[in-house]
Amino acid sequence: MATKVIEEMTRPVFDVNVLRQDFPILTEEVYGKPFTYLDSAASAQKPRQVIEAISKVYSTEYSNVHRGVHYMSQKTTDAMEEAREKIRSFVNASSIREIIFVRGATEGINLVASSWGRRNLSAGDEIILTMLEHHSNIVPWQLMAEEVGASLKVVPIDRDGVLDIDTYSNLLSDKTKFVAVTHVSNALGTILPVTELIRLAHERGAKVLVDGCQAAPHMKIDVRSLDADFYVLSGHKIYGPSGIGILYGKEKLLEAMPPYQGGEEMIDVVTFDKTTYADLPFKFEAGTPHIAGAIGMGAAVNYITAVGLENIAAHENDLLKYGTNKLKGIDSLEIVGQAPEKAAILSFNLTGVHPHDVGTILDREGIAVRTGHHCAQPVMDYFDIASTVRASLGLYNNRSDIDALVAALERVKEIFG
Ligand SMILES: *Cc1c(COP(=O)(O)O)cnc(C)c1O
Repeated sequence: MATKVIEEMTRPVFDVNVLRQDFPILTEEVYGKPFTYLDSAASAQKPRQVIEAISKVYSTEYSNVHRGVHYMSQKTTDAMEEAREKIRSFVNASSIREIIFVRGATEGINLVASSWGRRNLSAGDEIILTMLEHHSNIVPWQLMAEEVGASLKVVPIDRDGVLDIDTYSNLLSDKTKFVAVTHVSNALGTILPVTELIRLAHERGAKVLVDGCQAAPHMKIDVRSLDADFYVLSGHKIYGPSGIGILYGKEKLLEAMPPYQGGEEMIDVVTFDKTTYADLPFKFEAGTPHIAGAIGMGAAVNYITAVGLENIAAHENDLLKYGTNKLKGIDSLEIVGQAPEKAAILSFNLTGVHPHDVGTILDREGIAVRTGHHCAQPVMDYFDIASTVRASLGLYNNRSDIDALVAALERVKEIFG
């Protein structure tokens, strides 16, 4: 692996330009310009190590898993279960029984809302969410609340994008059965104090799901020290494949939950009178899984673990500071979301220019940013805007990427001047 650790300003930081060589797509050109990728919060690019792991599955070790006696099926099963173990260790779960492969965070949240919710929620119960939630951590709860007659309470934020903990404390009551909260906001970058949120919820006997999509690429996740009841993340946000993710759940809770979907893989004995279910984690994995995806996600976990999440965080924080300062130097640019605890996301607007126009002009300069509501419309409503331009950073971004962004934004200003 191309990760040369160098000493810089007394702390170890990898050489980002060496690391970039692991990501083949970064050498692509867009409209004859170097490709500047600032959209990792939507989906991260993949290192060669992940691409090769996926290619290896299909070239040398592919078959269906878990029910074959033949050599190749055993080999594939071993590779997939090895990936599950790597991910268990990555989030520090106690057991692989607590690691369920799902299609992504969205499916993981739907699984919990549907299976845990239907068993444990009833009319009059309350579910607490925050204003910072991604639509994937809002809509499944709305659907379930409607079905059982429960209601949703929303924790507000302030103008910097910081969660209002006092209101959260006040919203918690004996009616609160569940709290669903993001670890890091995908729209603003705010890092939420989830340990405290979980502790306060537990004091009231409520269970907590943490949406870790934007946290897992940037910081070490430890589900046991968080004491999270459920934690979800997507493979494609941590430099792995799309269409795969995991749901972590405390074993006791998962044991008590009914299956989410029925079908092959999740059964023990099937008769027309009664079906008994497979043990965890397979009870929640109906149908043939995304085998190469799971193995690819294992390779992604290996990759970021080898680079070191602390190194990644230090590098990205450096870059975030650099980028924030540079953007603040552009007059008529307003950064949306300035929480003191923030991950590598820069959301902003240029006065008088529609974010979509900004995105289009940046695109012609080879710069990929996201424009829109970022699947977090309640945040946009709070700031009374329809959308922002969002530049999100990954471990492979460098100062040249920020400089290219700033130069292109100056160009936007000229055009709309
Ligand atoms: C991307 C994202 C999701 C949805 O993940 P999928 O992989 O699309 O299921 C949910 N929450 C947050 C915070 C995200 O960033």
